[in-house]
Amino acid sequence: MFSNKNDKMRSINEKDIIKASKPKSSTIQVSYGKAKKKIKVTRYAAGPISTPYGKFMLCEFRLNDRWKDYEVLVAAKGFDNNLMPVFENGKTVYLKTDSGCRSGEIYLDNTCTCRQQLLESMKIIGKHGSGLLITIPNQEGRGHGFARKYATLGLQEYFGYDTYEAAKAVNKKIDIRDYYGVAALLKFFGLESGSITVVANNLSKLKELKENGYDPKLKPLEIKADRHTTKHLKAKKEHLGEIVKI
Ligand SMILES: [Zn+2]
Repeated sequence: MFSNKNDKMRSINEKDIIKASKPKSSTIQVSYGKAKKKIKVTRYAAGPISTPYGKFMLCEFRLNDRWKDYEVLVAAKGFDNNLMPVFENGKTVYLKTDSGCRSGEIYLDNTCTCRQQLLESMKIIGKHGSGLLITIPNQEGRGHGFARKYATLGLQEYFGYDTYEAAKAVNKKIDIRDYYGVAALLKFFGLESGSITVVANNLSKLKELKENGYDPKLKPLEIKADRHTTKHLKAKKEHLGEIVKI
C-alpha cells in the first residue's frame, strides 16, 4: 500500500476503502470565458483495477453541468487514504478525454477509431504513470447523443457518407461538446497550471482548459489507419483539423 514520506499520510486500510463508497463533494468555481460558474463535483465510487496497461484507480463522478456523468481512470504515484491520487511533483499529468463511444469501444464497430484511441491512451498513461482518462458518456456523437449518432452510422453504412458528411447531414453544428466539467475535475484533483499534457489528435479541448488557467502541452495520439478506418481518418483530418497519419 502507498505510504508517503509525509507523516500525515498513512497507508490505505480496509475502512478507507469502504469509506470511499460514500460520496465526496466539492463545489468548484469554473471560468466560462469571462463568466464564472460553480460546478458541484461529486465522486461517488472509487476502486483499483489492474489492466494489461497497468494499474489504475477507477472513479465515478457526477457533476451538475450539462454532461452529468464522468468516469475517470487515474494513474498516479500513489493514493491517499481517501483514495485521492498523489501525483509526482514536477511530473506532467497526461489527460485524455473520451466521449464514451459504445458502438466502437464496446461493440467494435469498424467505422470509428474510438476503441483504438481508448486502448492507446490507456497504454500511454499507464506507461507514464501519471494521468487521467476522463470518459463523458453523454458526449456520445460529439455531444448530440445516441439518436443522432446512430443516424450518422446509417448514412455511412448504407449511403457511403464519410463521418464528416454524415454529421453535417444530421446536425446543424458538428460538435457541441465542451470541457468545462473536465476543468472542474482537474481542480477537484488539485492540479495546477502547467501540470497538464493533453493526449489528443484534436486541439479543441485546450480552449476550456486555457480559460481556467491551464496551459496544456499536447501529446499527439496517432492511430494507424486500416482498410476500415482510412476513410474516417481522412475525413477527420480534412474537415476537423485532427492530427492524423494516413
Ligand atoms: Zn467512435
